[in-house]
Amino acid sequence: MVENLVEKKREQEIQVLHKAFESFNEASQQLQGSYDKLQERIKELDSQLADKNLELKQNLNEKDKVKNYLNNILESLHNGVVVIDSNEKITAFNQSAGVIMGKSPGKCVGKKLKDVFSPDFFESTFAPLIQTKEKNESLDRVYYLEDNEKVDIRVSASPMKDNKDKEVGTVLIVQDVTDLKRLEEEVQRNQRLTAMGEMAAGIAHEIRNPLGSIELFASLLRKDLEEDVDKQLLADHICSGVKNMDRIISSILLFAKSPEPSCQRCDINAMLQELLEFSSNIIYPENIKIIRKFGKGKLFCRGDADLLRQVFLNFIRNAIQAMQEEGELILKSEEIGISKKGKREGACIAISISDTGIGISPENIRKIFNPFFTTKARGTGLGMAIAYNIIKAHQGTIEVESQQNVGTTFTVKIPIWDTKR
Ligand code: ADP
Ligand code: MG
Repeated sequence: MVENLVEKKREQEIQVLHKAFESFNEASQQLQGSYDKLQERIKELDSQLADKNLELKQNLNEKDKVKNYLNNILESLHNGVVVIDSNEKITAFNQSAGVIMGKSPGKCVGKKLKDVFSPDFFESTFAPLIQTKEKNESLDRVYYLEDNEKVDIRVSASPMKDNKDKEVGTVLIVQDVTDLKRLEEEVQRNQRLTAMGEMAAGIAHEIRNPLGSIELFASLLRKDLEEDVDKQLLADHICSGVKNMDRIISSILLFAKSPEPSCQRCDINAMLQELLEFSSNIIYPENIKIIRKFGKGKLFCRGDADLLRQVFLNFIRNAIQAMQEEGELILKSEEIGISKKGKREGACIAISISDTGIGISPENIRKIFNPFFTTKARGTGLGMAIAYNIIKAHQGTIEVESQQNVGTTFTVKIPIWDTKR
């Protein structure tokens, strides 16, 4: 009986255990199901994440590409571009801006515009443009680089807006207009010279006729006064005055008619040497030392020997007149612009005439090629105007460098004689 009871209890216990086991099994199956689902979900999320990551990466690449592209455009521009934010802090400064204004872009970005440029330049140029932001407004200014070299620049500004049309800064465009200004000046000078030339030629002709009569009558008078030496001297004065005027008129006419140079092979060194040794038109004072720095051999240029002789004579005469007391006259000649491979295209002969004279003031230097501009009591002011016309007709150039009380150098460049042309 007791045994029976024990048996029954054990059976009951086994059943409970069985049930427990079953429910455990069930729970574990459920758990496995959930776990599988979870894993599936994780997989799904993983793949979604991977897609998103890819998209993000592509976006970033795209953004980088656009940024590089815009940067390349900015850096390829010939114009200087400076971008500032609303606090006037520089956010972009391209290479060209650096080249034009002699700044290193890396050192400018992040700084205030005010701190990068001189206060004078900032106030006179950037400040008004930033304030007005008129699209078509530009200012032409002379900008001085650190070595005091001058650059003519044109600056304009336009507002920079974000995609909500809110103003977030200013874009400043800087152009180097030095060559443009030089050309403008040259065109103006040519127009002025042509107009003055025409007028001068008219006047010279009008004067030359009565002058001829005066000389004729003066010489007749001189003959009549053979017995009176004193009065004859007066007639001589008239004659020499007339000759002087005639000389001036010849210069005017030389200046007025545009020269048409013949095209010969001119040996420049021989020409300069001849002017220094045999010219009856110049007196070389003894206290002026003449230094020859002639290029080796024969330097041939294309030109009209008579006209070129006249040009160098004018330069030498001026140089001597600029050194009243004593000094050095240096004549230099060289061939320039011939490439290492011997290519002669664009090559020329450069002749410079330097003196250690009084020099030319900066305000006068612009005027020296104007006809009738002279600082001398008995000057005609035509020497330089004639030289300018003649060299221009030879497709050449004249450069001048001068420092007051130190000296002056004129450099003439004339195309080389090249048989291939
Ligand atoms: P002019 O000699 O009759 O004055 P030019 O046309 O030859 O006329 O020269 C014009 C002016 O240019 C001169 O009066 C002088 O002021 C200036 N000039 C030209 N050459 C020199 C020089 N080598 N040194 C100083 N001044 C010069
Ligand atoms: Mg002169």
